[in-house]
Amino acid sequence: MPAKAYRYAIPAAYFENDDIRRYGFHGTSHKYVARRTAELVGKTEFKMINCHLGNGSSLCAIKDGKCQDTTMGLSPLAGVPMGTRSGDIDACVVQFICNKYGMSVDDCLNMLNKKSGVLAISEKSSDFRDLEAGRDEGDEKCILALEKFFYEVAKYIGAYAAALNGIDVLTFTAGVGENGPETRQAICDYLGFMGVKIDAEANKVRGKEALISTPDSAVQVWVVPTNEELMIAQDTAALVKNA
Ligand code: AMP
Repeated sequence: MPAKAYRYAIPAAYFENDDIRRYGFHGTSHKYVARRTAELVGKTEFKMINCHLGNGSSLCAIKDGKCQDTTMGLSPLAGVPMGTRSGDIDACVVQFICNKYGMSVDDCLNMLNKKSGVLAISEKSSDFRDLEAGRDEGDEKCILALEKFFYEVAKYIGAYAAALNGIDVLTFTAGVGENGPETRQAICDYLGFMGVKIDAEANKVRGKEALISTPDSAVQVWVVPTNEELMIAQDTAALVKNA
């Protein structure tokens, strides 16, 4: 990542002395999907955004196989709302809650990591299958939880499309990204302004590699199931070979 992406706009000493910066997570998954997508599109030089959407979710902006930015930060709490994590939040919320409820910072962070996200908004579940079932029954809290998730993911795709000065490929991976046609459609509905067009029939796919955009879509949209185990094995083999 370039420094402009990984540096936090806080006093430099925290970076210089304490290494406080954006690190990001799901790197093994993003790396696998970036490599596999290069094989699928038959190119090595292109701009893509990978959406790893599971119980934990993060997006990665990638140019020519290299990470340019990612949504998680020093910890996995940052970025989009997740199953039980809040995602990005104004730090003053922590100050307010700790002061008002006499909560320690650690307890507050535990709440933001384990009792927030779509679980908190739906007051029902962190599992997208339950949220979709709730939505289909007209549960307003489930509807809002899903809307919040789609909205924040789409916002980051827009931000990363600007950061990369346009994208060629958008990929979906992990539990929800691979198995959630309605999630993919709802997110892509925000991206018409970028010329993203989804083929409704192709988008029915679950858990398999597939091109789900129409031939005239300005951006290729793919489902690429992640394979972190294979990536770890390949990285390990490379390390052993070079040792
Ligand atoms: P992961 O963290 O990648 O294992 O993803 C787990 C999440 O994927 C679960 O919490 C579910 O919300 C979601 N998921 C798994 N299968 C499906 C499915 N068939 N439809 C929608 N969501 C799914």
